[in-house]
Amino acid sequence: MQPNLTIDKFYVRPPVKYEENIKELSFYRRSEAPVQAELTDWDISDCYLFDSLVGQLHVLYPKYKVEDLWLAWYRQGDYAEAHNHIGFDWSFVWYLDTCVHCSPLVFPNILRPWLPPEVIKPKVGNLHVFDGSRPHYVPPHTCAHDRIVVSGNLIHRTVQNDLNDGTRPQYSKVF
Ligand SMILES: [Zn+2]
Repeated sequence: MQPNLTIDKFYVRPPVKYEENIKELSFYRRSEAPVQAELTDWDISDCYLFDSLVGQLHVLYPKYKVEDLWLAWYRQGDYAEAHNHIGFDWSFVWYLDTCVHCSPLVFPNILRPWLPPEVIKPKVGNLHVFDGSRPHYVPPHTCAHDRIVVSGNLIHRTVQNDLNDGTRPQYSKVF
């Protein structure tokens, strides 16, 4: 099945003084994950910092529910290898702390790789929602400051919760 090529763009205001509060979260580096940056647990959607984001997503996509939500903290040199979130209907990225020079989110054209990729430049507060099966990557972060983003997946509400038994992968490597 052809993926939906539309990437929806919205704006969700970052929470007031979130900078101090996200430092309270636990971060890990996962050598097996495509995202080589500091990562939280895969589902911290119940953290109050993300109430407005989760609420907006459920308003914008009423037939879907947030299944995973994590935070990625990129330091200089961190990157994300090409991967997708196959098995999920939608995936999203929400830019919390970035500048215009920060590494973008890149969607290569897999079927026609000679065509230019789709490039999503980061801007604080912007929320981008895309088909979970679309491969994407983040080139190494070169800015001197950190790049902080929130990512996650949406799944149709009719899918039984028992699928999410903790073993369901949040991502797939594509190459
Ligand atoms: Zn930057």
